Amino acid sequence: MRIDILTLFPEIVEAPLRASLLGKAQESGKLSVTVTDIRNFTQNRHRTADDAPFGGGAGMVMKPEPIVEAVESLRGRNSLARVYLMSPRGRKLDQDLVRELAEAPDLVLVCGRYEGVDERAAKILGAGELSIGDYVLSGGELPALVVVEAVSRMIPGVVGDWESVATDSFFAGVLGSPQYTRPREYRGLTVPQVLLDGNHAAIARWRRKEALRLTRARRPELLARAGDKEDLELLAELAREEKALHKENEP
Ligand code: SAM
Repeated sequence: MRIDILTLFPEIVEAPLRASLLGKAQESGKLSVTVTDIRNFTQNRHRTADDAPFGGGAGMVMKPEPIVEAVESLRGRNSLARVYLMSPRGRKLDQDLVRELAEAPDLVLVCGRYEGVDERAAKILGAGELSIGDYVLSGGELPALVVVEAVSRMIPGVVGDWESVATDSFFAGVLGSPQYTRPREYRGLTVPQVLLDGNHAAIARWRRKEALRLTRARRPELLARAGDKEDLELLAELAREEKALHKENEP
């Protein structure tokens, strides 16, 4: 998969792209991420990429021409079929959208700065808008990295063991289960016995049940998607346990 990131600040994205799983994914050829400096497409000697907003008001707006021309310069290397502006007004990223994006052969992610981007850029480019959440950052570089990292986890082989992706929060519709490693006891807290007994079916059941317990407590709306027979049984078991606990605590 190829992803192009367009930004006025390439240095913000370059180091994270070289590190850890993203670096390895690119070395192995499973992912190719190219960073383009929008400033190289400015048209005056001051390399100005922003200007004051028409109608007045605070801050500066990114000019449309450098962005449009930077994206168009990718033609032949990127299909330009999926161009996205990073924007708090965009479609909010979740695991379903991540999967959808990961199915594409290529993406273009344009990072805004200042007050945002002249509206005409998205219109000319037929671009969508992607948000990473209901809060505002100073630029689209960190959101673009979030998209790259989340999407790359969906590419087979990027995360060495697919099971670790398949048991992540949201992948299987619910939050991830609690995890433990050595030592077996730390400051008086022990690891649940079932994880030490080597019974793989019991471990899988315990993990799913704990994942459902966490989801029920923290994100109950996700349970609408937990629909198979075993999940329904485990949820009924959790409800019974809760009821019994209430009874025990009654005066
Ligand atoms: N004035 C804009 C608004 O109210 O929607 C916010 C501009 S923000 C300071 C500058 C840039 O940061 C945006 O153009 C966008 O690229 C990026 N950005 C900020 N928050 C974001 C978010 N939650 N998701 C995606 N991009 C974001």
